[in-house]
Amino acid sequence: MSDFDENWALETLAVRAGQVRTAEGEHSEPIFPTSSFVFPSAAEAAARFKGESKGNIYSRFTNPTVRTFEERLAALEGGDSCVATSSGMSAILSTCIALLKAGDHIVSSRSIFGTTVVLFNKYLQPFGVETTFVDLTDLDAWKKAIKPETKLLFLETPSNPLTEVADLKALADLAHENDCLLVVDNCLCTPVLQQPLKLGADIVIHSATKYIDGQGRAIGGAVVGNKELVGETVFGFLRTAGPTLSPFNAWIFLKGLETLSLRMKAHSANALELAQFLEQHKNVNQVHYSGLPSHPQYELASQQQFAGSGVLSFEVKGGKEAAWKLIDSTRLLSITANLGDTKSTITHPATTTHGRLTDEERQQAGISDGLIRVSVGLESIDDIKADIEKGL
Ligand SMILES: *Cc1c(COP(=O)(O)O)cnc(C)c1O
Repeated sequence: MSDFDENWALETLAVRAGQVRTAEGEHSEPIFPTSSFVFPSAAEAAARFKGESKGNIYSRFTNPTVRTFEERLAALEGGDSCVATSSGMSAILSTCIALLKAGDHIVSSRSIFGTTVVLFNKYLQPFGVETTFVDLTDLDAWKKAIKPETKLLFLETPSNPLTEVADLKALADLAHENDCLLVVDNCLCTPVLQQPLKLGADIVIHSATKYIDGQGRAIGGAVVGNKELVGETVFGFLRTAGPTLSPFNAWIFLKGLETLSLRMKAHSANALELAQFLEQHKNVNQVHYSGLPSHPQYELASQQQFAGSGVLSFEVKGGKEAAWKLIDSTRLLSITANLGDTKSTITHPATTTHGRLTDEERQQAGISDGLIRVSVGLESIDDIKADIEKGL
C-alpha cells in the first residue's frame, strides 16, 4: 500500500495517491513492463501462490503501475478497492459476470451507452441473465421492474446525449430495500464532478478512455467499490479471465488523473457557455445540459454534481437536413462519436450512435432528427461558438 492521507483534497489525491517510490527514487511514476515477477526463494514463491504472502506474481493478476492507478482512482471515488480493466466495456462485463449467475435479473436505465445495451441483450441474455429497461428518471418504473430475481440496478447519470439526471440517493435506497446493488457508470462526470459511492451506490464503473485519459490516446476502464465486491469478487474474475489493463495504458491514465480536476472544470465551463449561447439562438429549439438553470432537473443536478461536465445536445430547427448541414459546415469540431477529449467533437445521434434503433424506439428515447451532440473540448470557447454559429 502506498502512503497517503485520506483527508487530502481530491486535487491532492489525484496527483499523489497510490505512488510507491522504488529504491531508484524516481519522482514520476514508473512503468513496469514485465509479465512476471521474480521470487527471492522457493518458499516465498510457494507462500505467494498460497496467498499467505503479499506480492506480485504475474501481471494478469497485479502490476505495480496498474496498482498505482487503481489506488489513485479508488481514493478519488472514495472506494476501498478498484480493479483496472482493458476497456470500459470489459469493466461492465467483468462486473456482471463476477456478480451475477443464470436466473438473475438486471434493471437498467434505457439511456445508457449503446454497446452496454447490446452486451446485456445479446451476450448476457443467452447465459440466463435478463434485463428490463426503464426510464432513467421514473422512480416508479424502477420500482415496478424489480423482481425477486433482480440483483443489479444499472445507470448512467447524466445520460448521454439528453443529459437526464437520476436521483442517486433514491435509487440506492430502492436497490438496498430489495437486496440489489446499484451500479453507476460514472464516465461522464468522473469523481471530480460526482461521487456516486458517497450517495449510496455500491459500484462505480469507468471508461477511462474518456475523461480520465482526456486526450483520446488509450482504451481502458475500471470498477470501484468495496473490498468484498470489487477487491475480491470482480478481481477474482479479472485475474482468471484476463481483461486486465496494460501498464503502459495505466501510466497514461495516471497522468490523466493528475490534471482531471482542472480539465473537468474547464470542460464544464466551456459547455455551460456554449449551452447558454445555443439557448438564445433563434434556430435552436431546445438545449439539453444539466448545468443550465432551465434544465428540468437543475436542482437535483446541482446537489449531485459539482458541474455539468462537457457533453451537451441541442435540437436545431429543420430536422436531419439542418443538423447534417451544421455538422458539415464545422471546421474546428471533429465529426466523431468519441467524447471526453480535449478536442471538441460533434455527432448526429439519430444516424450514428442511435442509428440501429427503429424510428419508434428512437422517438421513445427522445432522439429527434434535428438533435446534435457536442462533447465540448478545451479549445477557446469563442472559436467553438463561432464554428457552430456558421452552420446555424
Ligand atoms: C465509451 C463508454 C463506455 C465504453 O468504454 P470503452 O472504453 O470504449 O470500452 C461505457 N460507458 C460509457 C458511458 C461510455 O461513454
